[in-house]
Amino acid sequence: MNYDVIIIGGGPAGLMASIASAEHGARVLLVDKGDKLGRKLAISGGGRCNVTNRMDIDELIAHIPGNGRFMHSPFSVFNNENIIQFFEGLGIKLKEEDRGRMFPVNDKATTVVSTLLNRVRKLGVHIRTNTAVKTIKYTEEAVSEVILQNGEFIKTFAVIVATGGKSVPHTGSTGDGYPWAEKAGHTITELYPTEVPITSNERFIKNKSLQGLSLRDIELTVFNPKGKKIKTHDGDMIFTHFGLSGPAALRCSQYVVKALKKFKTNTLKMEVDLFPQYSEEDIFQQLLARAKAEPKKSLKNNLKGFAPERFLLFVYEKLAIDTQAISQTVSHEVWRSLAQICKHFEINVNGTLSIEKAFVTGGGVSIKEIEPKTMQSKKKKGLYFCGEVLDIHGYTGGYNITCAFSTGYTAGKAAAEQLVHN
Ligand SMILES: Cc1cc2nc3c(=O)[nH]c(=O)nc-3n(C[C@H](O)[C@H](O)[C@H](O)COP(=O)(O)OP(=O)(O)OC[C@H]3O[C@@H](n4cnc5c(N)ncnc54)[C@H](O)[C@@H]3O)c2cc1C
Repeated sequence: MNYDVIIIGGGPAGLMASIASAEHGARVLLVDKGDKLGRKLAISGGGRCNVTNRMDIDELIAHIPGNGRFMHSPFSVFNNENIIQFFEGLGIKLKEEDRGRMFPVNDKATTVVSTLLNRVRKLGVHIRTNTAVKTIKYTEEAVSEVILQNGEFIKTFAVIVATGGKSVPHTGSTGDGYPWAEKAGHTITELYPTEVPITSNERFIKNKSLQGLSLRDIELTVFNPKGKKIKTHDGDMIFTHFGLSGPAALRCSQYVVKALKKFKTNTLKMEVDLFPQYSEEDIFQQLLARAKAEPKKSLKNNLKGFAPERFLLFVYEKLAIDTQAISQTVSHEVWRSLAQICKHFEINVNGTLSIEKAFVTGGGVSIKEIEPKTMQSKKKKGLYFCGEVLDIHGYTGGYNITCAFSTGYTAGKAAAEQLVHN
């Protein structure tokens, strides 16, 4: 059987591309090398699937640091509100959580995956799992065939590449789409890990002094080697046995990767601000007020609850503070040093975990060579790209999945419409 459109990869981008193509009248084949579709989607958002984000378009784009502006066009075709309508139209109620993140009300990613699969099947898309694509064959101007790993050739008018990035390869995302793009004349911008835990050689990390300590509502800043702020993110973070993780650290990670490379250095300074809503002077005054209110209490007892206990114990040791000192005898210098470290807790970092361990792959098929209204290649007719294979990446929080759905829908619709017009 000949197909109008062959979609390679059954992640969120490929599933949505299949749906859009079939809805617009194309005969569609969806191939995936895994035994199941939507494997990464099923583990996203901590297994709850953060399907999209409800922020307005400008905010959405601001949370897509990897070429977010390109998304204006795909979002004009299919955006976060369309994603919400799509799922609600299929009977899947969504709920909004902090920072606009949208989840299915039952907190089950498997519901999202099965909803997409049911829709794909209902539209008559032919699905072939356990089917790895080896390469794509092109004529001078256009795509002609998809060649499978088993040697089979399948003729087609359009191919949509939705093979994802290189992160978490056991879900099937092993970077297979990049050489096919290069073969068609596309540029692959440098690949790097993003939304990835940060590593550090600090002694307190190595000896696990703070391992497992979570800090809530902090600000985390990356500095360049000259001490200038590169990026600050707020939110929660956690100290791990190798460095830093948690939402604020993940969001800072790409700036660490890029700065280490740009400044050709092995380490960078990061700082935690435990109390972003207060100045250092405010904190100093709060500490003095505690000392005044309970002058006879020991410093340690007086500061109970002021900051997380493990953090304070670590700081007392680091600053060689006498924790038994009676509050009224403690010098201003000591209170100031405590205020200072709460605002500027320094961590020297030296990298991140690998691209395979990252949540998202940065870099990919250059967006300069893609038509933003259709996702069609500017190099070969009938060749389309969508999802993480592209040089587009967002922060965690539903932005990547939103990009995958949006570019997937745009590509699927355009590929089907192109057939009608030819
Ligand atoms: C643990 C985890 C949590 C995440 N949480 C979030 C989150 O909360 N919010 C967010 O926005 N993003 C999150 N992400 C990122 C998000 O899941 C991805 O950006 C998204 O899945 C990318 O979709 P995609 O369709 O482009 O590719 P993928 O989902 O990677 O799918 C690619 C598909 O292509 C198939 N394939 C690859 N090569 C071939 C081949 N040669 N032949 C046939 N098939 C092939 C693979 O088997 C796979 O099924 C998370 C990622 C991870 C790993």
